[in-house]
Amino acid sequence: MSHNDEIPAAAHGYIALTPAACTSCMLCVRECPSWCITLESHAVQTSEPGARRPTTVSVLDAFTIDFGLCMFCGICVEVCPFDALEWTPRFDYAASDRSGLVQAIDQLSGSGDQR
Ligand code: SF4
Ligand code: SF4
Repeated sequence: MSHNDEIPAAAHGYIALTPAACTSCMLCVRECPSWCITLESHAVQTSEPGARRPTTVSVLDAFTIDFGLCMFCGICVEVCPFDALEWTPRFDYAASDRSGLVQAIDQLSGSGDQR
């Protein structure tokens, strides 16, 4: 690949998720105009030593983006208050059928394949 063919690091090729940063706030799910993000979570209570009452936090169970529906508008990346979503220059996520375009936490976070 010649220098001029290199993909800029800031290219909008693919949306990546950092699961540890996601609070399951649902903002991206609600704001996505294509309704192509799904999220499942459950609440757990944690108690800090010395705290008067337990704190309830959401734990992320599932998160998918259907890249067959996504129109790459970037709204989800913009609205996430915790920078859990970001653009990556990766573009090689073609699939042989539509279901293969639905990417889950493993793919979105890079833990299930290379990013
Ligand atoms: S880029 Fe736009 S269409 Fe794609 S998942 Fe994000 S908000 Fe939805
Ligand atoms: S907006 Fe960010 S923190 Fe909220 S559910 Fe989406 S990815 Fe997670």
